[in-house]
Amino acid sequence: MKASARTALHPDEARLLVERYAVIGATERLPLDDALGRALAEDLPALVDQPPFDKSGMDGFAWGEPGPGPEWRVVGVVAAGSAFSPLLAPGDCVRIMTGAPVPRGTQAVQRVEFTSESRAGDGSAIVSFTAEESGDNIIRRGENQRRGDQLLRRRILSAQDIGVLASSGYATVPVVTRPLVGVVSTGDELVPAGKVLAPGAIYDSNGPQLLAQARAAGALARHYGIVCDDGKALAAALSTALEECDIVLVSGGVSMGDFDHVPRSLIAAGVEQHFHGLAMRPGKPTFFGMKGPVAVFGLPGNPVSTFVNFEVLVKVHIMRRMGLELEPRILPCSLAAAIERRETDRVEFYPARLEAGKGGIAARPLAYHGSSMLSVLAETDCLVRMEFGEKRLEEGRIVDVRLVRP
Ligand code: AMP
Ligand code: MG
Repeated sequence: MKASARTALHPDEARLLVERYAVIGATERLPLDDALGRALAEDLPALVDQPPFDKSGMDGFAWGEPGPGPEWRVVGVVAAGSAFSPLLAPGDCVRIMTGAPVPRGTQAVQRVEFTSESRAGDGSAIVSFTAEESGDNIIRRGENQRRGDQLLRRRILSAQDIGVLASSGYATVPVVTRPLVGVVSTGDELVPAGKVLAPGAIYDSNGPQLLAQARAAGALARHYGIVCDDGKALAAALSTALEECDIVLVSGGVSMGDFDHVPRSLIAAGVEQHFHGLAMRPGKPTFFGMKGPVAVFGLPGNPVSTFVNFEVLVKVHIMRRMGLELEPRILPCSLAAAIERRETDRVEFYPARLEAGKGGIAARPLAYHGSSMLSVLAETDCLVRMEFGEKRLEEGRIVDVRLVRP
């Protein structure tokens, strides 16, 4: 099918579509140690009060009722992890360490810096307070969080999330299974790394790049090799990938060239087409379809295009398979140089680099044509989006950029 201006789908509609067709994976329970980078399957409540007891926020002396004189008798010591069980008597205090439970009857903790210690006539330790505290230096039970409060919402678990879960006593967590992404690189010109380049040949960079993008997005990924621009070879690779994977990404061969067999082969393999052609740049000939629960994306071979299409569309689908909605990380910053274009009939994503600007962070758009492509990918921190009908974005204008580097 030819991608004309009339049939080309707006990328925002394409996003909704690829999201809608995502089949959410099953839930499994994993030890917390194995859960980094995995999608939490449900919102989780706190299992304990935080802190679980009234604790001291300072090293110092916990005191209760004042005694007859201005000094305090030191009747014990309580470290983090231990406890002082007797009720504090008037005029008594205990030496206490940060994080230790305060004794019963404690009114406040006087920090050690605001005290002066000495000995009574009988040799026992006494302490007087040399400055006034503004607070009681006690962190009350449940002050940060109460048992049953929401601890974490569904998300991809980061290192700090693992810490939060551990602090609440989670030994295992429910996560969504990872989808398996199969990648097929198409093109007669492609050779794998490690081989010598014959005249006219280039290394397959999209294969490794897409595998890496899929893994970075939380999926499992498997390469189904490099396939030449030949319907039969493609059909064979596709049938295995469609059999084994949840998502199949085919790089190259989706345009209108004589050797662009991918859309035909996909349809012949039983894939139902949902779109072929987007009002988006890069990514005009992008294909999306489903075969049963398996999603198939045909991505244009230009490496910047492959990269951007994955970020904007494939990642949304992967996230949804893991029960999440992709929330792109958006940062307002000023444009370091104007962007101008002639045709305004597509939404365009410009790769850009972040740099220090006059009043803050600035995004410098990176031109990509021919051989500049690879250096552009190496420098890309974010994407600047230009809307339908927009012809020029002035230098210095504040734009929302989408971060694409962790
Ligand atoms: P295609 O989408 O197949 O028309 O390819 C568009 C451009 O991307 C051509 O210059 C291809 O050589 C290049 N290309 C296609 N596939 C890959 C790949 N796997 N790795 C690097 N470049 C590719
Ligand atoms: Mg090709």
